[in-house]
Amino acid sequence: MKVTVFGIGYVGLVQGAVLAEVGHDVVCIDIDANKVERLKQGHIPIYEPGLETLVKENHAAGRLNFTTDAAAGVKHGEVQFIAVGTPPDEDGSADLKYVLAVAETIAQHMEGHQIIIDKSTVPVGTADKVSARIKQVLTARNREDLGFDVVSNPEFLKEGSAVADCMRPDRIVIGTNSSNAEDTMRELYAPFNRNHEKIIVMDVRSAELTKYAANCMLATKISFMNEMANLAEMLGADIEMVRQGIGSDPRIGYQFLYAGVGYGGSCFPKDVQALIRTADSIDFDAKVLKAVENRNNEQKSVLFKKIAKHFDGDLNSKTFALWGLSFKPNTDDMREAPSRVLMEALWEAGAKVQAFDPEAMEETQRIYNDQDNLTLCGTKESALKGADALIIVTEWQEFKAPDFDSIIKQLKYPLIFDGRNLFEQKRMTKKGIIYHSIGR
Ligand code: NAD
Repeated sequence: MKVTVFGIGYVGLVQGAVLAEVGHDVVCIDIDANKVERLKQGHIPIYEPGLETLVKENHAAGRLNFTTDAAAGVKHGEVQFIAVGTPPDEDGSADLKYVLAVAETIAQHMEGHQIIIDKSTVPVGTADKVSARIKQVLTARNREDLGFDVVSNPEFLKEGSAVADCMRPDRIVIGTNSSNAEDTMRELYAPFNRNHEKIIVMDVRSAELTKYAANCMLATKISFMNEMANLAEMLGADIEMVRQGIGSDPRIGYQFLYAGVGYGGSCFPKDVQALIRTADSIDFDAKVLKAVENRNNEQKSVLFKKIAKHFDGDLNSKTFALWGLSFKPNTDDMREAPSRVLMEALWEAGAKVQAFDPEAMEETQRIYNDQDNLTLCGTKESALKGADALIIVTEWQEFKAPDFDSIIKQLKYPLIFDGRNLFEQKRMTKKGIIYHSIGR
C-alpha cells in the first residue's frame, strides 16, 4: 500500500520504517528540511535500537523516502498518517496546531478520497476538529465532492524498544465508524496481525481516550510506587521487598512497579497534564490524575534532598559523578528527564556535575552547552574521578554491575546515591559503601 507519514519524529520515523519493512511504499514528510536532508544521507536523528539498519535498508530498497514536498507526499499516499508533535500548550492542554496544520496541508493537496490517520496522541474530539478543518479547506477550494475519513490510530510504542514494539504490537487500536476505512486499516496492518488478532476496532472518541487512559494508568503505577517508597522509608520498610510481595499477585503483576526518581519523557508528563486539562474543560475534577502529577513532581527532588541532607545542606564546590541522563535507558531522549531537575538543583546549590550517559551526551550538550558546572565525560569511569559521590539516575544495563572497588578508588568518599535501587544494601555495606537509595 502507498503510505504517507507526516512528522519524522520518534513515532513517524519508526512507524514509517516498520511499514516499509513489511513491503509498504512509504513517504515520510517533515517541515524540518535539515532533518530530511540528513536522513537521505543516512543520518538517523534519534537513537533507537534497530532503527538505523531498518531505515538504511528500506531507504536503499526504495520503499522508504523522505521529503519536505507536502504536495507530492499527499499525492503519493492512499492513507495519510499524522504523526507530528502535540506538545503542551501554556495551560498544559495538548497544542493541536501542528496536527491541524497537517490536516490543512492534506486538504489543500488531496485529489481523491483520503483516509487520514491520527497517530499523534490527541485529546478526545480531535478527529472532529481535523474533519472540520479539512472540510473548511475543501470548501474554499470548491472541492466538497472529495470524500475523506479521519481515523484514530493511537501509538503505543515505548522509546527504547520502539522498533520491536511496532514490529510486534500488543494491540492495534483503530477508531472509526466507517467500514471502508476499517478495511483499509486492516489491510495496512495485516502483516502485524498474523499470529493472533490484535486489532481492536472502536468508535473514534474511545480510541482517542484509550491512549490517554493507557499512559495515565502507567504513570499512576509509577506515582503509586513512589508514594509507597516514601512511606516505606519513613516506616522502616523496604520498597523492594514490598514490590515483590505485591507483584506476585497476578492482578497486580511485576511490571512497572519500580520506585525511583519519577517519570519523565515526552509522553507521561504531557499526557497526564493534557487529560487533567480535558477534564477541567468539562468541569470534571480529575482527582487521581492530579495526585499522580503532584507526586511525580515531588519525586523528582527526592534524590537531591537526600544528597543535601547528607552534606548538611552545603553542596557549594562539591563535585558529583552522575550516571544516566536520558529519561530512561535505551534512548537519547532528555525531554522532562529527572536528571535535568537534579542537575539544575545541584548547580543552583553551587555543585559541579561530571556526567556520563551511553547515548544522551550529544543531546545534553545541545541543551546545556553554556553550563560551566557540567563536564561531559567519555566513559562512566572517567566521570568518577575526584568526585565527592556517585549519583545514578537512569538504569542503563551497563550501570548494573560496576566495579565497586574502582568506584571507591576514584571517588573522594565511598558514597553512592542510587535513584533506581540497582544494588543490594547488604552488599554495599560489605564493600564499605555509604549507600542511599529509594524507599529502603
Ligand atoms: P517528535 O517531536 O519527535 O517529532 C515530531 C515531528 O513532526 C518533528 O520532526 C517536526 O518537525 C514534525 N512536524 C511538525 N509539524 C509538521 C508539519 N506540518 N508537517 C510535517 N512534519 C511536521 O514527536 P514524537 O515523539 O514522534 O511524537 C509525535 C506524536 O506521537 C505526539 O503526539 C506524541 O505524544 C505521540 N507519541 C509519542 C510517543 C513517543 O514515545 N515519543 C509514543 C506514542 C505516541
